[in-house]
Formats: sequence, structure tokens, C-alpha cells
Amino acid sequence: MSYFDRILVCRDCSNTFTFSAGEQSFYAARGLVNDPQRCPTCRSAARRGTPGAAAASTYVSYGPSASSAGANPGRCTRPPAVPAAR
Ligand SMILES: [Zn+2]
Repeated sequence: MSYFDRILVCRDCSNTFTFSAGEQSFYAARGLVNDPQRCPTCRSAARRGTPGAAAASTYVSYGPSASSAGANPGRCTRPPAVPAAR
């Protein structure tokens, strides 16, 4: 049985994604006869229990600024004196 890459349309975000030959053989090996309905992004989002949150998946990277803000307990956190630019 030979497979070839196919382009599918995501049910959730309507983006196209590749259902590669390797994935198809993987699906077939697991006995899955249906095509995937969602792109990998929406699939992982649905797996996290947040359906429809695929668009927000780009905001998951929280910067280190949140943890460094309170990194000096007990110390006065005055803003540093900014010298005048002239
Ligand atoms: Zn999608």
C-alpha cells in the first residue's frame, strides 16, 4: 500500500495542512480509517481541553519578565535614576 501526501482543510480554523504519507500509514497502522479533521495546531489545542483556542496558541509563550519582577523581596524597588539625556 502506497501513500502520498494530501492537503486537507482544518475543520476548526479552515487552514490547510498536510496529511503526509507517513501520517497516513501511521493512521492505517492504528486502524484509523477516517481522515484527520483538524490541523496539528487545533489537534493539540483540543487535546489540552481548549477547543477553539487554536488562535490563542501563539500567546502561550510567557516571557521571563513576570518572574523577575518580584525577584528582590525585601528590597526597595525604586526605579533606577535615569540620567538626563543631555
Ligand atoms: Zn486548525
